[in-house]
Amino acid sequence: MFDPTAFRLTDFEAEWTAKARALGPTFAGRAFEIDRDARFPTENYQDLREAGLLGICVPERFGGQGADYRAYSLVAAEIGRYCGATALTWNMHVCSTLWSGLLADDLDMDEATRAAHEARRARHYARIVEDGAIYAQPFSEGGAAAAGAVAFSTEAVPVEGGWLVRGKKIFASLSGNADYYGVLCTETDGSGKKSRRNTLYLAVPADADGVSVVGDWDPLGMRGTVSRTLLFDDVFVGKDEALMPPGVYFQAASNWPHMFMTLSPTYMGLAQAAYDFVVTYLRGEMPGTPPVKRRQYPTKQLAVAEMKIKLEQAKALWFQAISEACPRPSKDQVMRAWAAQYTVMEYANDLARLAIRTCGGQSMLKSLPLERIYRDSRCGALMLPWTAELCLDRIGKAALYEDGEGDD
Ligand SMILES: Cc1cc2nc3c(=O)[nH]c(=O)nc-3n(C[C@H](O)[C@H](O)[C@H](O)COP(=O)(O)OP(=O)(O)OC[C@H]3O[C@@H](n4cnc5c(N)ncnc54)[C@H](O)[C@@H]3O)c2cc1C
Repeated sequence: MFDPTAFRLTDFEAEWTAKARALGPTFAGRAFEIDRDARFPTENYQDLREAGLLGICVPERFGGQGADYRAYSLVAAEIGRYCGATALTWNMHVCSTLWSGLLADDLDMDEATRAAHEARRARHYARIVEDGAIYAQPFSEGGAAAAGAVAFSTEAVPVEGGWLVRGKKIFASLSGNADYYGVLCTETDGSGKKSRRNTLYLAVPADADGVSVVGDWDPLGMRGTVSRTLLFDDVFVGKDEALMPPGVYFQAASNWPHMFMTLSPTYMGLAQAAYDFVVTYLRGEMPGTPPVKRRQYPTKQLAVAEMKIKLEQAKALWFQAISEACPRPSKDQVMRAWAAQYTVMEYANDLARLAIRTCGGQSMLKSLPLERIYRDSRCGALMLPWTAELCLDRIGKAALYEDGEGDD
């Protein structure tokens, strides 16, 4: 998707995007059935495991590949081009290592806290690198917490040796398929009030007493994510399961805002997939369809041109935003990240819409990937905390107000 020479990729980025691309056709071949049955892509995870991709963001000294933010994003986009549900769930898994790894290294901790974090994350990373464990990332609760507006309702009550976790998470991708759930919850401090500053990020073992997966899963798109509801009924979680030390997630959310852009690579890949489809189809080269060329019509050429322009706009803005992701970015950099997120999430579905209109009725049959790309891409703009609506809100406010400014 991003030519190594034209985009000046590092050798590492070129190597790992190529590895992901090599898996692509296999993932694409399985995508229809995974989507139809709304089942988890277990066999794709075996391939990801064997390719070393479960540990892509695990630092090298812990046996991982040590990818940084941009390298991860580029690889994830390549996977999204072939199977949206695999890329999106893989993102949840990888974030547990990216946030506890590279991001945490950029945040303030005293020496003792950092040493304790180093020892704890070694355990998490060994599970992934040595045992092939999969981590999920269930944050959403159906209230305002996932948007960052209030503290999480899911509670962690301190007890001897750890916490008792109680609460509910909705849209928990990988539910029933992950080995650990990376749960964001609020540590209670006895005051009866909940504060976002007391957010904890805990790895809850999927087989712990009190964990259950409930409800069905039959959505419009991203069906292979299996994002059912998780219940935590006084689940004991030991101190060693903290993915970040107390207080550090709150710091990360304020100081490393690009952490919330990690859902976008999947949709960057889907945008590319919609464009790839239309070109192949109009050239009469789509496997499984008669070799009828439709490229000679000027209306089709105009539509493809419009799609190419939108795709290049999205790629350029997104590439800039992932390239400048850093701790404590400037206001302009954060606004650009929101703009990139908005553009990718909205354009992915717009490109799929244009592709269906341009290719015609036969192109949206379930035997072809386009109608799945259309449905999967519809989900991007809904993903908290940076939904398309919230990005617009934030860009508008940030453009017109400086920090602390009001209208009195
Ligand atoms: C395929 C898929 C997979 C998902 N996987 C996961 C996962 O693994 N983990 C996870 O934690 N979540 C996951 N989510 C959930 C997702 O991030 C959202 O939390 C969820 O879609 C919110 O749905 P809702 O109807 O409760 O939204 P609501 O909270 O009702 O919000 C609806 C809309 O209102 C706007 N809005 C919300 N809050 C505010 C606010 N404070 N101010 C202004 N506007 C606001 C937003 O634009 C939002 O889209 C997934 C979602 C999908 C579709």
